[in-house]
Amino acid sequence: MSPIRCAIENCKTTSHNKPPGVTFHRCPTTTEMRNKWLRILKHRCSVLDWMESRICSKHFELKYFDAQKKLKDHAVPTLFSVTSNQKTLMRNEPGKSKVERLLNRMPQSDLTNNIKQSLSKMKEPVNLDNFVTDELKCKADAPNEAQLWLMIKKQDHLNTRLMDLVVQTKKHVEILQKSMEESRMVRKEQEQNIESLKYIVKCLQEKHATLEEQIEILTSIESR
Ligand SMILES: [Zn+2]
Repeated sequence: MSPIRCAIENCKTTSHNKPPGVTFHRCPTTTEMRNKWLRILKHRCSVLDWMESRICSKHFELKYFDAQKKLKDHAVPTLFSVTSNQKTLMRNEPGKSKVERLLNRMPQSDLTNNIKQSLSKMKEPVNLDNFVTDELKCKADAPNEAQLWLMIKKQDHLNTRLMDLVVQTKKHVEILQKSMEESRMVRKEQEQNIESLKYIVKCLQEKHATLEEQIEILTSIESR
């Protein structure tokens, strides 16, 4: 049996030479995802057979895999190494350093843990306050360590504020959704009321109630 080959041009991964953990994935079946993939892959595959071609897991960011290492439904290939297509890479990640590229690929939770771990190993200078001016800048004689820590603290504080903002925005959205739901319920109730009033009118007309009698009965029902 011939080996499975990754369809990405210049990617040398096959089922024979693949490193452990690398998997091969079929193209998606829904039209929406298919179009997304086509847009990305049309310049990156010399041959792309929708039924037969496979893309290796090296081209998918970690966030696109579930806990069972299965590719999620909304996954799209986004990683193409420098050797595979330098031009397209430059277009995607212009002037990105190695660190920036790796940062892009790391899931948020891993990133947070990573920072926490690194920070737990570093000791904050005990006299940091002494090196900081009222404008929240480092004094001229402050050691590098103090400058670094001040920056870390500023960044950390900014993150906390941003997270607060995210939480607040989420709450606002929830409130909006709730009030939308409520107004929808009110409208439904009103529609039901109108329906039952219409029904009552119909019954009254069949019983030959006069217009005045109908209005009187309807008003008494409505004011209840
Ligand atoms: Zn590949």
